[in-house]
Amino acid sequence: MSDRYALIGNPVAHSKSPAIHAEFARATGQDVEYGLIEARLDGFAEAVEQFRRSGGKGLNVTLPFKEEAFRVCLHLTERARAARAVNTLRFEDEFGDNTDGIGLIRDLQQHLGVALKGKALLVLGAGGAARGVVGALLEAGVARVSIANRTAARAEALAARFPAVRACAYEALHAEAFDIVVNATSAGLADEAPPLPAGLLERAALAYDMVYGRDTPFLRAARAAGVRASDGLGMLVEQAAESFFLWRGVRPATRPVLEKLRGA
Ligand code: NAP
Repeated sequence: MSDRYALIGNPVAHSKSPAIHAEFARATGQDVEYGLIEARLDGFAEAVEQFRRSGGKGLNVTLPFKEEAFRVCLHLTERARAARAVNTLRFEDEFGDNTDGIGLIRDLQQHLGVALKGKALLVLGAGGAARGVVGALLEAGVARVSIANRTAARAEALAARFPAVRACAYEALHAEAFDIVVNATSAGLADEAPPLPAGLLERAALAYDMVYGRDTPFLRAARAAGVRASDGLGMLVEQAAESFFLWRGVRPATRPVLEKLRGA
């Protein structure tokens, strides 16, 4: 029987993760099966236990359960501790990791060819996704990270955990300039955009929206401003590849999978 993995979240029906992991399994010859589990909002722990008892080997965790997943792991990596959020569970050693940060870094550096050293970054949002990437950006050598969030207190709490990071109100961004603006909000899912002051995107070299599979108002605004724009599909494939490696000890090639998804 194949080793079983799944993505757990709510909602999950839209996810491209099963297709990505099926490609990884085929390309690496690993006998794995990857499904979707939509857990009740108050039923995360129960759904995890049920999957584990039925022989499941590990899970990817998405919105809104990444913080709950962080709390159930016995062994955590440093990056999961820094994020206080887990997106990868491996049952055999009660291990939890967060691969979102490395996923974003690899997409920026390897697929988009962006150099991060010394750059000024603005991260929009302070939810699970933002928390997963700030530490990784600093490790990759960016000079400074600013965080703006609709609920200012969440941005301040996140910024307070890192020395080179500060929180900044959306209204206070009008006089600022950044090399890269990363939209880590879920605004695009509701066809909305974070309230950026006019002119901010024009001053950037890259606008990156973690949302994938749709043309968001943020991406449209970036293109209208003449700025290079990217969605989060590359990050999705890269974070999945890192999870696959943690589970199987084999690193799948990501470029063919990303090209296939982009082509589809
Ligand atoms: P989350 O924990 O629910 O956080 C959502 C964030 O978006 C919060 O900071 C929230 O602000 C902000 N927000 C929501 N609607 C907004 C609006 N209309 N205007 C301004 N800010 C708004 O979600 P998450 O886990 O961080 O995920 C965020 C997004 O990243 C999701 O769309 C997810 O699909 C995507 N993501 C993509 C990848 C990938 O691999 N490409 C990986 C992870 C996540 P408040 O704090 O004020 O509520």
